[in-house]
Amino acid sequence: MKLAGKVAVVTGAASGLGAAIARAYAAEGARVAIADFDAEAAERLAAELCAAGGEAGAVAMDVTSELAVTQGIDAVADAFGGIDILVSNAGFQHLDTIADVSFDNWKRILAVHLDGGFLTTRAALRHMYAQGRGGSIILMGSIHSKEASVSKGPYVVAKHGLLGLCRTVAKEGAAHGVRANLICPGFVRTPLVEKQIPELAERMGISEAQLISDVILKTTVDGEFTTVADIAEVALFLAAFPSAALTGQSINVSHGWNMG
Ligand code: NAD
Repeated sequence: MKLAGKVAVVTGAASGLGAAIARAYAAEGARVAIADFDAEAAERLAAELCAAGGEAGAVAMDVTSELAVTQGIDAVADAFGGIDILVSNAGFQHLDTIADVSFDNWKRILAVHLDGGFLTTRAALRHMYAQGRGGSIILMGSIHSKEASVSKGPYVVAKHGLLGLCRTVAKEGAAHGVRANLICPGFVRTPLVEKQIPELAERMGISEAQLISDVILKTTVDGEFTTVADIAEVALFLAAFPSAALTGQSINVSHGWNMG
């Protein structure tokens, strides 16, 4: 059991990458808080993990709300005995060019990814520092933390910002035994991407099959999608890694789409 005795909070854990990470952590012995603003789906996953013999609970949390994040993380620490691992993963995509995007949509996407990343990290760090037993902060970046694509400006900007947050927390957290790393997935077929495929194809005036082969997977080494299992495996590796040899890193998991 790689995470026996650890307490993990995973945001955006009711679906996609977050759900796969929560399942992987529970299977390795962690007590897992499923934090999501979709409270019903979070409850369902927590019940599933408990039925499988794990320890899990649901936390209704909008990561853009300072109060909801602070209260939610404090409640997890009280119920489960501190916080050892945070996976700040909640997010969504919005397609628009910089020339067209409304200020409201710009702020909405920065709020979820950047404010949410900051608020959840700050709340978890305060517990990790006070507990004095170190910790692991894992931020969900993207290959768009390093690359740009048309029609994804606010998302690209937000994901680049998380790289700065990760590196800062790696430096500040070191004195407290806290590590921070960024996972940078390529395209994974979660609801976020399934919604985007027809929208992008329509914008570009091409078929969905063409979009997948000629755009989405074009620069991978093998034309393959990354999977939720790939990302969960990396999130498990980062959470369980035993020293600060691995901190401040951004790890691409993208079939070679980006190698930087
Ligand atoms: P998903 O849509 O399957 O899951 C996202 C989850 O986040 C949902 O459960 C949703 O309810 C939750 N959420 C959204 N806004 C929230 C908020 N304000 N507060 C709390 N919860 C909120 O999407 P996914 O693909 O699993 O995405 C997870 C993360 O991975 C996102 O940060 C996304 O940007 C990132 N990512 C995804 C891909 C991909 O190809 N799927 C690639 C790179 C990065």
